[in-house]
Amino acid sequence: MSVLEIRHLHVSVGEGDDAKEILRGVDLTVRSGETHAIMGPNGSGKSTLAYSIAGHPKYTITGGTVTLDGEDVLAMSVDERARAGLFLAMQYPVEVPGVSVSNFLRTAATAIKGEAPKLRTWVKDVKSEMDLLEMDSAFAERNVNEGFSGGEKKRHEILQMRLLKPAIAILDETDSGLDVDALRVVSEGVNRARQESEVGVLLITHYTRILRYITPDYVHVFVGGRIAEEGGPELAEKLENEGYAAYVKDSNEQA
Ligand code: ADP
Ligand code: MG
Ligand code: MG
Repeated sequence: MSVLEIRHLHVSVGEGDDAKEILRGVDLTVRSGETHAIMGPNGSGKSTLAYSIAGHPKYTITGGTVTLDGEDVLAMSVDERARAGLFLAMQYPVEVPGVSVSNFLRTAATAIKGEAPKLRTWVKDVKSEMDLLEMDSAFAERNVNEGFSGGEKKRHEILQMRLLKPAIAILDETDSGLDVDALRVVSEGVNRARQESEVGVLLITHYTRILRYITPDYVHVFVGGRIAEEGGPELAEKLENEGYAAYVKDSNEQA
């Protein structure tokens, strides 16, 4: 059982006079086995929240805390965050020249677990998860992110999550740019991780359509760098029908 706790988180980007506060007091708790959807309009700070938890150097934490099972996440290096059980899909967005998917996954698994996974079970696990994600076996020998399509990138993210078995996974816009078939396959991968390894999921999205495949336990409406409303899955339906306009108006009046 793991708990990610975000308390009163304030984050800025830019330096000196150009510094701009993006997150304005975020409170959120994600436990093993729970799926939380963070939904909000473009520019509301959703990715800033993900990158801040990931430890991206561009973001300055100006207040608040983030802990995983009571440990101070903000004091950890990016690698330490991964070893502690956090998975942040956007941690590896770049091309890794000359490193195959297969080697990359095994290196990551070794770094996280502190020992290399047994080769025979590992090869079997990779193959079976790639089959489930409807990925061609040749994909494993391609270089990481080199010429990957949008769908291949997202499948690769979910493949990583399935093999690295994190306690808490943060998925930022996993649904963006996916056709219906890819969306279904990727969503099924997330659902397998929920069922089989009780992962806690922070599912960040602009659109409600992924929530037809992944039913969240909680929905948080994110506007102007903070959570404006919280509820259950029914809140996503309300957003689908009414959009974010009412929340954006409230947020502007407060700012
Ligand atoms: P979302 O993911 O919800 O679309 P982001 O977290 O990407 O929102 O962005 C939130 C806000 O932060 C936006 O207004 C964006 O313009 C601003 N922002 C992000 N990065 C920078 C930066 N390096 N410098 C200045 N503003 C930034
Ligand atoms: Mg955006
Ligand atoms: Mg974003």
